[in-house]
Amino acid sequence: MTPQPNPQVGAAVKAADRAHVFHSWSAQELIDPPAIAGAEGAYFWDYDGNRYLDFTSGLVYTNIGYQHPKVVAAIQEQAATMTTFAPAFAVEARSEAARLIAERTPGDLDKIFFTNAGADAVEHATRMARLHTGRPKVLSAYRSYHGGTHQAINLTGDPRRWASDTGAAGVVRFWAPFLYRSRFYAETEQQECERALQHLEDTIVFEGPQTVAAIILETVPGTAGIMVPPPGYLAGVRALCDKYGIVFILDEVMAGFGRTGEWFAADLFDVTPDLLTFAKGVNSGYVPLGGVAISRKIAETFAERPYPGGLTYSGHPLACAAAVATINVMAEEGVVEHAANLGACVIEPGLRELAERHPSVGEVRGVGMFWALELVRNRETREPLVPYNATGDANAPMAAFGAAAKKNGLWPFINMNRTHVVPACTITETEAKEGLAALDAALSAADEHT
Ligand code: PMP
Repeated sequence: MTPQPNPQVGAAVKAADRAHVFHSWSAQELIDPPAIAGAEGAYFWDYDGNRYLDFTSGLVYTNIGYQHPKVVAAIQEQAATMTTFAPAFAVEARSEAARLIAERTPGDLDKIFFTNAGADAVEHATRMARLHTGRPKVLSAYRSYHGGTHQAINLTGDPRRWASDTGAAGVVRFWAPFLYRSRFYAETEQQECERALQHLEDTIVFEGPQTVAAIILETVPGTAGIMVPPPGYLAGVRALCDKYGIVFILDEVMAGFGRTGEWFAADLFDVTPDLLTFAKGVNSGYVPLGGVAISRKIAETFAERPYPGGLTYSGHPLACAAAVATINVMAEEGVVEHAANLGACVIEPGLRELAERHPSVGEVRGVGMFWALELVRNRETREPLVPYNATGDANAPMAAFGAAAKKNGLWPFINMNRTHVVPACTITETEAKEGLAALDAALSAADEHT
């Protein structure tokens, strides 16, 4: 339901926010968070009555849109019957959520350890890998994001790590494939794939395979730029893990639950990791929930000896009830197929058409409901529209792009020199076209800086 504009309440919400809320990743005095009056489907409203089409899905998590009535009802019903119960007990919402997730994860990933979110899923997956192998190191990719907690931020391969990097023992980074900005002087996807695999094997060999517990990769890296890996890369990593006895962790916190037009992005490449982390889309983020899907081999390690880890709210009934309802809605409404079709038939051609007309678009890449536009000053040299990790004046071109999008009723996802098109997977064709038209106007603002 469209909320009534109420600037007075909006001002009070904003004032309290400014006085007392300490925001993530922000210089507290340099931000001006809009006050949100309501949200439904792919849209949200501020208190002044402005409506925005959300091309970010929150933080890429409201995969079925805001306020889906069936999920809201399931949360209400769970709250009325059993709001909470400790994780050591078998509870219907928890066991049903685990069953539905295990049914959809690839291969034999059929045990689910529930966490509160994505970062702690990564913490636990890496801990399981170290305990399983008895080895200390984890290899992670540059251009990745794995979460804001200690181990997860240290595994992260983007500048958000820098200020928190303790030089964590046992984290080694490598370059994953990304042809547009190849580290391997590759000119084709095949070359990029082969050279990236050779580089990874060299890294393993020079680190000492007997010291490497796990390789962690986002199946399709999200925050770092939606770089769909070339055919054969993930299968190649799987083969390296098997060759050297290394645990393969795929982080599907962002890519999972329909985002790529498959239940899990691993399905796009026909690979099965040993551990798979998820969060966000599992219940569209209506109640915080994440987890690790565990293969039989790793689960067996903890069959006779305890797993030394746990969380007070592991498998919280409210969050799990939301997951059960979300997964059922996705299955009943064909959300995954819709994401694949609308992505291929509307979003991708729409973005490619925009790229033809706007010189600021260097590359369009993605899959399903998971797209990135790489904005550049110069298409020939591929010089990014703003420098790496730019702030203030240096970031003015991206700020101008963002302001123009918002002026046209579109809330864009912006990270460095990129905008990501990551709306709800339930977005309609009409809504998608409305978003593309707003993006057209916003790109004209970016073009002025080419
Ligand atoms: N892994 C990936 C791939 C992510 O995209 C994110 C969040 N953007 C995380 C982990 C961390 O999840 P959370 O913020 O829920 O802790």
